[in-house]
Amino acid sequence: MGRKFLVGGNWKCNGTIEEVKKIVTTLNEAEVPPEDVVEVIISPPFVFLTLVKSLLRLDFYVAAQNCWVRNGGAFTGEISAEMLVNLGIPWVILGHSERRSLLNETNEFVGDKVAYALSRGVKVIACVGETLEQRESDSTMEVIAVQTKAIAERISNWDNVVLAYEPVWAIGTGKVATPIQAQEIHCELRKWLKDNVSPEVAESTRIIYGGSVNGSNCKDLAAQPDVDGFLVGGASLKPEFLDIIKSAT
Ligand code: PGA
Repeated sequence: MGRKFLVGGNWKCNGTIEEVKKIVTTLNEAEVPPEDVVEVIISPPFVFLTLVKSLLRLDFYVAAQNCWVRNGGAFTGEISAEMLVNLGIPWVILGHSERRSLLNETNEFVGDKVAYALSRGVKVIACVGETLEQRESDSTMEVIAVQTKAIAERISNWDNVVLAYEPVWAIGTGKVATPIQAQEIHCELRKWLKDNVSPEVAESTRIIYGGSVNGSNCKDLAAQPDVDGFLVGGASLKPEFLDIIKSAT
């Protein structure tokens, strides 16, 4: 069975109740390919998770943008995977580069969070990617391998994991990776999974691309054999997100 295309919309720290309702209405009214062709996941800030879940069409799913590394308790400001389960939120994005760089999340911490979320039954979009400096010094694959290894060492089942390759230099910058650049890294990452996890996991795990994806560049990227979907930031707040969903076909 092929890998089902997946499009995630990462709203980051954006939105008001009014804006959320407006975006969800646009999504709900859209004609998009069916759920067996494209899996759509919307990731609003924590405070809007319940609102989005209550309003959103049932063939789209909701993700949190982070969750804590273990069960709740005395961790002010954190949200546990158990709470996501309790709210009926099936997905979480972990290891986003903004959290890695601005909030000092290490590879090990991200790996621990991925393992914990999975152990609670929450599916994970795990993000990896290199900075411009790392790309220019030819260490892209090395960086991504170390990030992925910290996850691979902590989990034994990849069924509920999606990897998002998000070059840091492409996130929110308008500088998208070319289809060739994206395909090259996705292919190498899949080979890494083959050599270090298993051929089955390499074949079945979806590797999605993130970084300045928009309505105009999505088609060419989606045509690459190892690009299994997108994680979209800025454009996920705009109507062009629908064109990105449609690039699945
Ligand atoms: P962008 O963000 O689409 O705004 O570049 C992508 C992401 O951070 O997931």
